[in-house]
Amino acid sequence: MDFTAPLLTWYDQHRRDLPWRGVGDPYAILVSEIMLQQTRAKAVIPYYRRFMAELPTVRDLAACPEERVLKLWQGLGYYSRARNLQKCARAVVDRYDGRFPGTVQELLELPGIGPYTAGAIASMGFRVPAPAVDGNVLRIMARLYEDGADVTKQPTRDRWAKALQGAMSERPGDLNQAFMDLGSLVCLPKAPLCDSCPLKGLCLAHAHGTFDQYPNRGEKKPKRQEQLTVFAIRSGDSFLLRRRREQGLLGGLYELPNLPGHLSEQEIARVLTQWGLAPLGAWEIRREKHIFTHVVWDMEVVNLIAPKQAVEGLGWYTGAEPLPEAFLKCLKGQSTGE
Ligand code: SF4
Repeated sequence: MDFTAPLLTWYDQHRRDLPWRGVGDPYAILVSEIMLQQTRAKAVIPYYRRFMAELPTVRDLAACPEERVLKLWQGLGYYSRARNLQKCARAVVDRYDGRFPGTVQELLELPGIGPYTAGAIASMGFRVPAPAVDGNVLRIMARLYEDGADVTKQPTRDRWAKALQGAMSERPGDLNQAFMDLGSLVCLPKAPLCDSCPLKGLCLAHAHGTFDQYPNRGEKKPKRQEQLTVFAIRSGDSFLLRRRREQGLLGGLYELPNLPGHLSEQEIARVLTQWGLAPLGAWEIRREKHIFTHVVWDMEVVNLIAPKQAVEGLGWYTGAEPLPEAFLKCLKGQSTGE
């Protein structure tokens, strides 16, 4: 099945105009690809622009304080990506004097770079014929060939990477980006726009009307549910916060003080007394939910105003600290001082 030619022809006419396209700078490709993991291109654009305006080179990122990098990442989620991105930048500076290596093998040895990102950088930055197999590619290939193998399994990914390696044309970067665009614009997960697809004449799932059976994503494990009581304690434009421990979910970022479980009014009053806080007026409680990859936080948010005073183990949020989305939504409707 020769899908390369129709896909590239379609790409030449319909490619998305994205700020990291056509720059050929491996650093810009790396930043965009890491941001695009788990996040849609449209949502990434403002973050990418801000990040590149402040940290335009790999040396700038390597030298930047981690807390500032995390702040620039705030709102994108999956903060380990930002940390790994910086580790990678530091390795490029230390090992290669700030110039990215151009082979897949060398790229794979850098921290935080897996086969997909290595393929993307090598193909787009160095014209190396390397595939970049992500969810878009797997969905399109599974439908094209009516392949029912579980795409969450590594052997399935490896098999498609090997097959695509043989299909790489003299425009490897464009071919990888064509897959990305086709997956984002046409071969959509739920309702593919087959009538507009350049591959519809080749696609077995289209011929048989079976697109909704592909790809096979294996069995989904239910997410763990956790209940939390979160304290959104305000004084003027500041909020009380603390730093999370380094390991685990949202490690090393800031958080609003919180306790496991949904506390009763009496328990909330006891906690405030322990912190030495006397609320100004009554507090309000509302519900918020935040969904992570493996866990769902069911939060009861206690909103209250208190005099600005020192509290052991806590500090006052100034807006410069990286505060994850899960807690930012607890401050919704209240000034964060930013
Ligand atoms: S024809 Fe439809 S199902 Fe097949 S690749 Fe194109 S959009 Fe996807």
